[in-house]
Amino acid sequence: MNTINTIALVAHDNRKKDLMEWVDWNFQILLPHHLVCTGTTGKLIKELMEEKRQAGEERPQVTRLKSGPLGGDQQLGALIAEGKVDMLIFFWDPMEPQPHDVDVKALLRIAVLCNIPTASNRSSADFLISSPLLEGGYERKVIDHSNYTERKIF
Ligand code: PGA
Repeated sequence: MNTINTIALVAHDNRKKDLMEWVDWNFQILLPHHLVCTGTTGKLIKELMEEKRQAGEERPQVTRLKSGPLGGDQQLGALIAEGKVDMLIFFWDPMEPQPHDVDVKALLRIAVLCNIPTASNRSSADFLISSPLLEGGYERKVIDHSNYTERKIF
């Protein structure tokens, strides 16, 4: 594999165990990529990586943002808006309201707007991570919204 993707990984508390199992299972596939995570998810992923890495190995690179409820979802949304994220794996909790529900909604919205492949559960994450398109050569189409920013307001 020669394409290095930036893969965002986020999980709400009740879904973190599931995400860690998924990362553990897919460790070899994730190895060449750059992972960007919200704070607590990133801490757990870094610990898992430390356990699994061979001595001297530095990949995958893991970047930790702020914790989701403290602005991490917004930081991630900004990275997506800037075109710096290739894939979003976000195991969000469908059973519990979150203090930062508006941020969660905003993150999911910007991922759709920017046409980022997004998985919200384990089976869709399995489909994404096993896609041959991960190897490169896929050109993500983004709708041209220049008409919107150039529109006449008054
Ligand atoms: P956390 O944030 O990784 O810091 O727990 C996740 C989220 O709620 O978006």
